[in-house]
Amino acid sequence: MDGEWLYSNMIDKFQSAQIVIEGAGPVGLACSILLLQNNPDLKLILLDKNPSSDDFLENVDTRGIAISEGSKQLLKNMGAWVEHAPAIHQVHVSQKGHFGRTIMDGAEIAQDALGHIVRYRDILLSLRNQLRYLESKATSFSWLRDTKQPFSLPKLSPKTCLIHADGGLFHEQSAKDLYKDYGQSALVGWLEVKDVKPNMAWERFTEDGPIAILPHHQGNNTKNFVWCAPKAKIDQLTQLPDQEFLMQLKQAIQLPIGHFLGVHQRKSYPLGLNIKNEIVKGNEVWIGNAAQTLHPVAGQGLNLGLRDAYTLASLLNSLYTKSTADSIQDVENTLDQYQKQRARDRQITIQVTDLMASVFTSTFLPIVIGRGIALSALQWLPPIKNRLARQMMFGQR
Ligand SMILES: Cc1cc2nc3c(=O)[nH]c(=O)nc-3n(C[C@H](O)[C@H](O)[C@H](O)COP(=O)(O)OP(=O)(O)OC[C@H]3O[C@@H](n4cnc5c(N)ncnc54)[C@H](O)[C@@H]3O)c2cc1C
Repeated sequence: MDGEWLYSNMIDKFQSAQIVIEGAGPVGLACSILLLQNNPDLKLILLDKNPSSDDFLENVDTRGIAISEGSKQLLKNMGAWVEHAPAIHQVHVSQKGHFGRTIMDGAEIAQDALGHIVRYRDILLSLRNQLRYLESKATSFSWLRDTKQPFSLPKLSPKTCLIHADGGLFHEQSAKDLYKDYGQSALVGWLEVKDVKPNMAWERFTEDGPIAILPHHQGNNTKNFVWCAPKAKIDQLTQLPDQEFLMQLKQAIQLPIGHFLGVHQRKSYPLGLNIKNEIVKGNEVWIGNAAQTLHPVAGQGLNLGLRDAYTLASLLNSLYTKSTADSIQDVENTLDQYQKQRARDRQITIQVTDLMASVFTSTFLPIVIGRGIALSALQWLPPIKNRLARQMMFGQR
């Protein structure tokens, strides 16, 4: 359904809905697909701020997102994997100007790749296409799209499960229970390069913040970059003429990676941590960035959100395929179970990400030495390194 939200004509549908999902970013779309794949008769309403035509995607984020191997498998099972996503076989992690370095290698943990890089825009498109396919067979599914009207939900039955997946970026959100502004922004874009090893990613911790160089979907002569630094510095870097920017990037990294020849599509994002402690309240649940917004240093935000969608959809599918699934208590018990099942993965991912964002930008000498030792220890203690790699790839399952 397109154009105006048409809520007044939809009151009956809202009243009888089993599930309403608010927000059709990657996590809301993934959750809808996972629900309808198993239960095409589900009375599901998806509220999407975007229009039905994909033309708007031309102006949507081109930033490259690191998708873990676990998320790739999930997207594949949904029929929404983005082909031609370059693989990361190795990640080189080091700190500028100090000792300590580790290399994570997919082969060491018997994986073809540690992850893949996919543009945010392409993930959205692929998920939208798969949901369109399912929509044609799901007669009780309503995908409400609009670009104009501000949205306010009609009163729902307490038996309806309301899923908040309206995420957003850190600077667009109101403060939740745990709110931390790192005072940093991320500058993202892509580079034209020469003689840079393909399928390799670099994460370099500098005194200003981490810099990542990642594969790019256009091939071996291009790379994505993410440069995190204090906001004022990022504002200045955004304005620099291309050649001057490339020189500063080279100086900031100081690694013999290869040659940087051109830079394109620089765009900055303020960074912070914004966490909701209680992700369930009665018949309501929060997933993806609506539940937790993370610093991109560990590339975990969307991966964690997809795991939220997977666990929630699995539990709700079990509930709604039971013939007795129509009491308020059933819905609330299922959501309580969801909150318990997600607690450990959320906690570990949030803590590791916050630790990396905080500790790796410190210039306090004992911390500098400590992180050098930690990086070296990781290199020489493969079991610990491999456990960390597995956590990043698959989370806690
Ligand atoms: C610079 C940067 C780099 C990143 N890199 C990575 C990475 O490498 N790996 C990784 O896993 N993650 C990464 N992330 C995080 C990742 O982008 C987010 O975690 C992910 O986009 C969250 O998805 P979401 O669907 O929860 O929210 P969003 O992507 O924010 O989508 C929410 C959707 O809901 C819509 N909406 C909002 N309000 C309403 C409403 N009231 N009604 C209906 N719709 C509404 C919005 O328009 C939007 O379409 C990065 C983030 C940044 C900023």
